[in-house]
Amino acid sequence: MLIPLNDGTAEAVVRRHLHHLVDDEVRASPGIRGGQTSADQALTRFSVAGYAARRSQVLPETDRGASRLSPYIRHSLLPLRRVWEHVGAGPARDTRKFRDELLWQEYSRHLYARVSGALHRNLRFAAPWHGEFEPEAWPRQMRCVDSVVSELETDGWLVNQTRMWLASQYTVRSGAGWHAGQEEFYRHLLDGSRAANLLGWQWTVGAGTGKPYGFARWQVEKRAPQLCRDCPLARACPIEQFPTGAALPPVTDAPANLLHDPHLSTTRGPADVVRRRAPRSVLLTVDSLGDADPALRAHPEIPSVFVFDEPALDRLRLSSKRLIFTVETLQDLARRREVVVYLGDPRAIVPGLDAAATFAPVPSFARYAEGAAELHPWPWLVAPHGGSVASFSAWRRASTEVLADDRPVDTAGPAHS
Ligand SMILES: Cc1cc2nc3c(=O)[nH]c(=O)nc-3n(C[C@H](O)[C@H](O)[C@H](O)COP(=O)(O)OP(=O)(O)OC[C@H]3O[C@@H](n4cnc5c(N)ncnc54)[C@H](O)[C@@H]3O)c2cc1C
Repeated sequence: MLIPLNDGTAEAVVRRHLHHLVDDEVRASPGIRGGQTSADQALTRFSVAGYAARRSQVLPETDRGASRLSPYIRHSLLPLRRVWEHVGAGPARDTRKFRDELLWQEYSRHLYARVSGALHRNLRFAAPWHGEFEPEAWPRQMRCVDSVVSELETDGWLVNQTRMWLASQYTVRSGAGWHAGQEEFYRHLLDGSRAANLLGWQWTVGAGTGKPYGFARWQVEKRAPQLCRDCPLARACPIEQFPTGAALPPVTDAPANLLHDPHLSTTRGPADVVRRRAPRSVLLTVDSLGDADPALRAHPEIPSVFVFDEPALDRLRLSSKRLIFTVETLQDLARRREVVVYLGDPRAIVPGLDAAATFAPVPSFARYAEGAAELHPWPWLVAPHGGSVASFSAWRRASTEVLADDRPVDTAGPAHS
């Protein structure tokens, strides 16, 4: 089935054509718009000066140093290389710290490409992992929790610091299995990706390092003191002290390929363009929706195609703001070239498209690769290597392409600060 992009605003398109795939009231994120044009504007506005000192600030919002570029990076509207270069002239400490975070993003992609479905389970240490979603694991009487969950549900974006608060509260304090918590994040986050979200949860709850990140009043007082001032539990704060607990035991079934990649060429994807036949269209995927998509750039004259994966979306029940972000992105692209949008099963639709596509380092790309007329390489920031991906620092040490003067400011994990 075809979805007309010119059927009103992105909200209207979702309301008319994709409503059966969402459970919430159809509403866009108030602060973040999809599309290459919005991504370009956000990057132009972003200055890295002050980033190192303020990236973890939560409130007031005007003091936040985080770039809020993640939804554009996640969908490759802003390729990592472009963002990396954008900050090149900034103050050295800020540039180094920011690039270090971009490398965390790249690391998450390498890790997921390597271990694939194993990232959905405890990777190295046994943290509470499975079970249904438990909303009460985020007690809404606590102003800090309530404020952040509301922001997640409304805006679809959080600073790294408050993602750690929620993940830690959910699993380290409440004892709920982290996978359902990450699924709730994934439903709402405009930057939600399996790679970075699973990594963020694994590392916060200790499944990556054995050392869970402890969330306590101390961080709230430091990063958003007004939340404590306004909290009905201010005098009986349930997180007054840091949580205590023994170090997590190692799992017995850690993926063998964490330390060494026996299938490096599969992980990396094609190194050169693979040409099978002349393409009639360019297929875009959620991992690569930007004007810089290699297949799109190689074929400016033919239509681009996007498929809303109906069976997957039916299962995932994403928040409508995520679908609106995608429709906005496609509408923006449609101002520059022809865009055809399908709703259905990509396994049935894609083989008939004779499309050129860009490889994406995620397991679901298999359903797009089959039958592709032409396959373009994924534009890695750092070429994948066959060495260890068991930790960020081990991965980085083996990533010899990264320049020596871009050494990380710290290597404690995304759960630092
Ligand atoms: C529990 C949890 C879940 C997370 N889920 C996601 C997710 O689904 N998608 C996602 O892109 N990031 C995720 N992150 C990482 C990080 O929180 C976000 O990338 C960041 O907050 C986005 O805001 P920003 O663009 O202002 O980041 P900035 O601080 O401005 O950093 C610039 C860019 O670096 C990358 N980056 C920064 N920190 C990290 C990190 N710790 N791991 C990986 N990449 C990073 C992002 O691409 C980000 O846009 C998660 C972290 C945690 C702790």
